[in-house]
Amino acid sequence: MSAALKAKIADVFEEPGCEVNQGKTAKARKAGCTKQLTPGAAAGGCAFDGAKIALQPIVDVAHLVHGPIACEGNSWDNRHSASSGSQVYRTGFTTDINELDVIYGAEKRLFKAIREIVEKVDPPAIFVYQTCVTGLIGDDIEAVCQRASEKFGKPVIPVNAPGFAGPKNLGNKLGAEALLDYVIGTVEPAYTTPTDINIIGEYNLSGELWQVKPLLDALGVRVLSCISGDGRYNEVASAHRAKANMMVCSKSMINIATKMQQRWGIPYFEGSFYGIADMSQTLREIARLLIEQGADADLARRTEALIAAEEARAWDRIRAYRTQLTGKRVLLITGGVKSWSVVAALQEAGLEVVGTSVKKSTKEDKEKIKEIMGDDAHMIDDMTPRQMYAMLRDAKADIMLSGGRSQFVALKARMPWMDINQERHHAFAGYEGMVTMVEEIHKALFNPVWQQVRTPAPWATVADPMLV
Ligand code: SF4
Repeated sequence: MSAALKAKIADVFEEPGCEVNQGKTAKARKAGCTKQLTPGAAAGGCAFDGAKIALQPIVDVAHLVHGPIACEGNSWDNRHSASSGSQVYRTGFTTDINELDVIYGAEKRLFKAIREIVEKVDPPAIFVYQTCVTGLIGDDIEAVCQRASEKFGKPVIPVNAPGFAGPKNLGNKLGAEALLDYVIGTVEPAYTTPTDINIIGEYNLSGELWQVKPLLDALGVRVLSCISGDGRYNEVASAHRAKANMMVCSKSMINIATKMQQRWGIPYFEGSFYGIADMSQTLREIARLLIEQGADADLARRTEALIAAEEARAWDRIRAYRTQLTGKRVLLITGGVKSWSVVAALQEAGLEVVGTSVKKSTKEDKEKIKEIMGDDAHMIDDMTPRQMYAMLRDAKADIMLSGGRSQFVALKARMPWMDINQERHHAFAGYEGMVTMVEEIHKALFNPVWQQVRTPAPWATVADPMLV
């Protein structure tokens, strides 16, 4: 690993905005947060994958992967990040290096690839991603990018997060560092308003940002840039002129928020778009920060009025499902989405939550779950697929909400399942999102296919081994 990359990783681990990090001793902090991976075990994405996930939602940029073609194949479009315009981000660009490049170096090939993109696509910027092989043979992507920027007169940004640097999470942060080093602060916005904000760590999965943006529009709050969902290069580059930053609950790009505070004095808060109470709290926080920064104090009153109207409308629509959903039991195995914010909406629709995972929850999250579900809250730290299967097979739950990896457990038990993690196809953010979630649960539970798959096949004379 190059000295520059080592220094960058050390810098990323020194995170003032992370309580876990700050709670460690200086020695433990130096060791970093990366867990040593077990060879041969499924380990999730690599650092390159993490950087790509974090930056690819910038839609008008060409994302060029410098490495063997499999790296691009691994990471291309694996989430449903939506765009309201340009589709350049969905084109897979790669240098696709071969054996000779490994022997002689692939810097020239990279330069040619950049030229080809400029000639054929002409995007406002090109992001170049380092990968393991090109990192190991010592290709200097920073130098190539600098030369290409000068030659073609447009930003060519190196994203130095080769897979071997660490896990996906670290890659998210290294991707964010590339924005801090080369992008944010390089363009001035055409105009500014006292209510400009940035939303950081929101990827517009299945168009979730668009469930929230109308609310901000109604309040007269302008999203100067979203990093990175449905983002545009020039918007991200002018993000330093915002009055406040919102950090979306996952801490994947916290370094952007903390460093923008240090460099440009932009205050930030951490909020969430998931769950009705959380959405309202987030709107209140945005208003509070903007007023502190000089926006009209009437914003607070307008925010409360909007919250009251939107909450009432959402609860009414959720309650409409009560008669049919009352008594149905849900097993909730969530990843990134905070489980307690979802629990409240499920309960309002009459659903009973029989268990919720707390693997990634903080202490406060667990307290909150207890508060909402009572002392008998069934919190699951880690559940094996076998346990999930037994729970569904014995009909202790009627539906499972989880990430894509557990879907086959539910399908094997012939029970409905719904995806609520990153790969989901429906948008669950804001007030509208919670209504959609309840609607989708209703659809899954009452889909006639379950009746059919549970009926024994006409030729089945012995007990079906699948059901044993
Ligand atoms: S960057 Fe490395 S670990 Fe990541 S996909 Fe490419 S070869 Fe695999």
